[in-house]
Order: sequence, then C-alpha cells, then structure tokens
Amino acid sequence: MPVTNTKIFDWRKRRSWLASIRHYAGHVLTAELRGYLLQERPECWSDNLSWLPDSRYILSEFVSGLTGYYTHFKGFHGCRPLRLSSYYEEGLLGQNSDLLCDMFRKIFSDAPKAHVESVIKQFSDRSDGERGAMWLVGSDQFLIKECGHYLIQGSEYVMALAAHLGHSPSGEDYRFRLRNYGIPTILEVDVPVCLVPATQHVEVAKMILSEWGQLAARRPMPFGDDPPCYVVRQNIPPECVRDHYHPERIIDPHQGRRPYTNHLLTCDMCG
Ligand SMILES: [Zn+2]
Repeated sequence: MPVTNTKIFDWRKRRSWLASIRHYAGHVLTAELRGYLLQERPECWSDNLSWLPDSRYILSEFVSGLTGYYTHFKGFHGCRPLRLSSYYEEGLLGQNSDLLCDMFRKIFSDAPKAHVESVIKQFSDRSDGERGAMWLVGSDQFLIKECGHYLIQGSEYVMALAAHLGHSPSGEDYRFRLRNYGIPTILEVDVPVCLVPATQHVEVAKMILSEWGQLAARRPMPFGDDPPCYVVRQNIPPECVRDHYHPERIIDPHQGRRPYTNHLLTCDMCG
C-alpha cells in the first residue's frame, strides 16, 4: 500500500490536534467566534453545544472538516490473546464467537461436556447482535486504569460464558481460570476513518469542539478527560495494527481496583 498523506488523530496528543483545527475548520471557528466566547465565557460542554452560536451548522461543517482532514483514528484495544501473530497476519476480526467458543472448550475441558455445550448454546442465540463489534479507546492509559478487565480476563464474551459455567465441584470460580491463559496485551491500531461509524465521528467532533471552546472562553471545565471510544463493526486489516505491548501493572476493576501485576511481558510477536 503506497504511503499517502496519512494523518492520524491521536487523542493523547492534545496540543497537536488543537493546533491542527485551523487547517480544516478555520472557516467556522473564526476569530470573531473566539472573541465572542472570550467575552461570554460560557460552559463549553461536549454533550450540549448550546454555548456555540449556530451550533448545528458549525458541528456539521466541523465533522466534515475533521473526517476529511484525518485519515485514521488511533485506537487502543485491550485483550488477552493466546497468541499475537493472528492480529499481524489477519487483523482484528471482531468478536469471532466460533474461535472464542473453541478456546472456551479447551480451557474448560475438565468440566462436564454437556454443561459446557449448553452454556455455549445459550449464548450462541444471543451473540448475533454483538458479532463483529470491536471496542477501541483513544488512550492506552485509560484502558489500563479503567478497563483493565479486558487485559486481565480477556474477552467479555468468554468471561460471560465462564460466569454461566459457574463453579467446579471443588469450588473453583471458573471466571478466574481465564487469568491463566493468554497474555495481557494492548494493541495500538490506526483505524481508518471510514471504518468508524458516523455517529462516533460526531462524538469525537463534539469532544474536540468542547476542548477548543474551553480554551477560547478561558473557562476550563471540571470534568475528566475520558478518551473517545471507537466501536468498529467491520474487520480491521492487519496493516492497521501499528504496535502492541504488555503492561506490567494493570488496575483490576473486578478486584476492588487493586493493582494487578502481569508477569507475562513478552509474546510470540515481541521484537
Ligand atoms: Zn508482545
């Protein structure tokens, strides 16, 4: 694939994307508008753009500017795969429940087979709506601090299967067995803008507008900076996988936010 003008929106690089706004939205975010905001000093929310005059027009212009300027959104995906090579060879194939079910059968091969199969059957009926949905966020630190369960226990689908399987005769909680398989991993993925649904383009645009407005109005808002979320329902090709790593310390939301120490720091694809 020839390297064309790749422009990647990376939520972590706030100064960079703030500085780039003028390249694609200078015609709507004008000096006059900045002057107005500085004078009025409104609260520049992201989920309510009433602080922005003519907000419907500005938002729609901003979204088309943003998605025309950037070619990719940088997203991070937390997982606990058995091997990493498939991501580099095949890309991210979404929630492939057949593969996940095979993994589940292997991990719980000692549990009564009929019970395992009945749990799988219960879920196969309801998995269609979720099939292929892949969840990425704009910040790897957010994954480690707020969504560590994806790295510690792996796929939510397999976790739900294990929860339904319950306990072993000796009292083992099957969910915790998942912590013995796979390697906690963060994948760094440049997601082509066209693979991200339009509703999420709008969400990202609102978040950027809010940040821009707070600066213009000189009125920082007291909310955290949760990164944008990208839910992709198509396969992401392997060339979009930019990098990966295995964090050593992960906050465990299922254990009272205690830090979890990961001792598996290399994999089949670590260079
Ligand atoms: Zn690795």
